[in-house]
Amino acid sequence: MATLRFQALKETLNRKPLEIDENERRSELFGRNVFSESVMRQFLTKEAYQSVKEANATGKKIDRTIADHISTGMKEWAISKGATHYTHWFQPLTGSTAEKHDAFFETIGDGLAIEKFGGGQLVQQEPDASSFPNGGIRNTFEARGYTAWDPTSPAFIYGTTLCIPSVFVSYTGDALDYKTPLLRALQAVDQAATDVAKYFDKNVSKVQATLGWEQEYFLIDSALATSRPDIQLAGRTLLGHSPAKGQQLDDHYFGSIPSRVLAYMRDLEKECMLLGIPVKTRHNEVAPNQFELAPIFEEANLAVDHNSLLMDIMQRVADRHSFVVLFHEKPFAGINGSGKHNNWSLSTDTGVNLLGPGSTPMKNLQFLTFFINTIKAVHDNEELLRATIASASNDFRLGANEAPPAIISTFIGSQLTEVLDELEKVTDGKLSPAEKTELKLNVVGKIPEILLDNTDRNRTSSFAFTGNKFEFRAVGSTANCAEPMTALNSIVAKQLIDFKKEVDSLVKKKKMKKDDAIFNVLREYIKQSKNIRFEGDGYSEEWEKEAAKRGLSNNRNTPEALKALVNKETIDMYRKLGVMNEIEIEARHEIQLEEYIMRVQIESRILGDIARNHVIPTAIRYQNILIKNVRGLKEIFADDFKEHSKEQLEIIKEISERIEKINSGITEMIEARKKANKLEDAEEKAFAYCNDVKPFFETIRYHCDKLELLIDDEIWPLTKYRELLFTR
Ligand code: ADP
Ligand code: MG
Repeated sequence: MATLRFQALKETLNRKPLEIDENERRSELFGRNVFSESVMRQFLTKEAYQSVKEANATGKKIDRTIADHISTGMKEWAISKGATHYTHWFQPLTGSTAEKHDAFFETIGDGLAIEKFGGGQLVQQEPDASSFPNGGIRNTFEARGYTAWDPTSPAFIYGTTLCIPSVFVSYTGDALDYKTPLLRALQAVDQAATDVAKYFDKNVSKVQATLGWEQEYFLIDSALATSRPDIQLAGRTLLGHSPAKGQQLDDHYFGSIPSRVLAYMRDLEKECMLLGIPVKTRHNEVAPNQFELAPIFEEANLAVDHNSLLMDIMQRVADRHSFVVLFHEKPFAGINGSGKHNNWSLSTDTGVNLLGPGSTPMKNLQFLTFFINTIKAVHDNEELLRATIASASNDFRLGANEAPPAIISTFIGSQLTEVLDELEKVTDGKLSPAEKTELKLNVVGKIPEILLDNTDRNRTSSFAFTGNKFEFRAVGSTANCAEPMTALNSIVAKQLIDFKKEVDSLVKKKKMKKDDAIFNVLREYIKQSKNIRFEGDGYSEEWEKEAAKRGLSNNRNTPEALKALVNKETIDMYRKLGVMNEIEIEARHEIQLEEYIMRVQIESRILGDIARNHVIPTAIRYQNILIKNVRGLKEIFADDFKEHSKEQLEIIKEISERIEKINSGITEMIEARKKANKLEDAEEKAFAYCNDVKPFFETIRYHCDKLELLIDDEIWPLTKYRELLFTR
């Protein structure tokens, strides 16, 4: 029974790290399989190259005849690199990436064949889209969805396939993917931020959102992972007692990387280099077998593509090294979970980071403008931000005393807090020359270019300012960054539009000078958004109480959190910005509720199976051993056998009690599922799964874990936490 566990352990112990050849410099490998600028120059006509550049810079459509030139150049390049197939590569709302490969190969009659890839095939494809989630946008009889080339993210070759980053939309043009709304939000924030940046520098004509994600993950040996049905099917453990030693000693964080893992990382990084993913840092994370990978930040759309691609590659490279990557936010109870910090900023085409303090008072006023507007945007939309990171798996992490709480707040550090406190006192109306000089010299002028407490020090904040960027830390490790990035860029776009309106109006109606007007509006924003600022310990109970007093939301579970996706303010905002229409928003809400239901349902089934098919039979086996033992004792000791079998009898009793609790728990859980399944409305059903089904997980698990501690290790069938986390 326990043979699989011991076989897996034996296999794991015999593994050796793979040899990784790293003779070539990374700078030389970088982007080798990417249809990059320099490749385009080589393989495209001047006209075609210009047209891609223009599409990139201004979003201008690419002419069909030119698309033919581009596709021909792309094909030549791809074939020269050994590619045989092409695919539109897109990110449907399933949470992974999708591709359907077609060969370049085509017959032309008379037994002849050529390699062909036309502009039409580059620009648009029609995959059979009926099996992707669509939340009712596409009626099943109208199973048409289109993928369309996104020229702002370069094509790349993976294996022998040319991959063309694409959007995925229904025949009515509604977004069925993550990328489409993101691109729209990025356009909105570009426009809004450019308009505001022009207050400070007329030469700015484009603002890009930048994103640097940090991907946390666990690596588990594949044999060990396969020996656990829960890891195999749910990507996390549904039961398992904490090992005697976990992460208490903090000896894993930043410690030396185990050699098999290091080989994996080097292999992975090589693949990343070839694909132009600029990965830079790797290190151990807090928990045993937990690691992190982070790139140099990039334009947000590209960074999102790169993260999706990376997650895919990570799993494939892991196969080679006999590892399984767990992206789940909480694969092990009682041990740190995984997140995906989203570092975000805005940068101009003149090369200025708008969230980086500058060397002059004017530059700092620009910095403060974007800084305060972002805080205001987060303040006004905290519940929406929370909604964008909601998922069944992230629910196990948020608020679990080690990850940011389900409350959104911003941490800005003491230096900037002082600056905002000063700015709050700025005179209402026109500022006197003396006040302005004072402000410039002693407040705005005092912000150093490099903030001393630019600090990662407060790791408990869900949305922290870290010196020259904001870091959205509550994002889950399985998430597609597009969702939080769509929301964040949209709310900042809306905020900047409002800001500009207010400043312009003060200038026009109150005849204020521009910087007076800016100071006036910022002062009000500081006052209005104070509630979202929190410098203390975000994990503490006091903060929960304080946040409630401040009226901040604290939506602890996904169905609750998702409500904010479909409230009137959200729909209005997205509609006005052109990011999503009501149909698209409702569809997403529906899809996420369904996803939630499915996840909880699947986990509930797995837990029931493991507990009934693995745990209870093992418990009975062990109980029988004890019973035999007691019988034997009775034979030998006759009258005082009770004295000698006292402990055994206790254990026998305890096993029976726990079996009873587990089995009746499963029966009740199944009943709760049946009841939930009868509900038609997706939201009601999600709440039923959340409130009536999920609570059984804990009780069932509790008794299973107690049995794990009680039962003979030799016959325990499930690979233990200690083995999963510490075998290398
Ligand atoms: P750490 O937080 O570990 O001290 P950094 O602050 O250098 O490290 O950066 C963490 C992440 O933030 C990296 O992925 C980095 O690329 C990203 N990052 C740095 N600057 C920006 C920026 N202006 N916009 C977006 N991401 C950024
Ligand atoms: Mg970080």
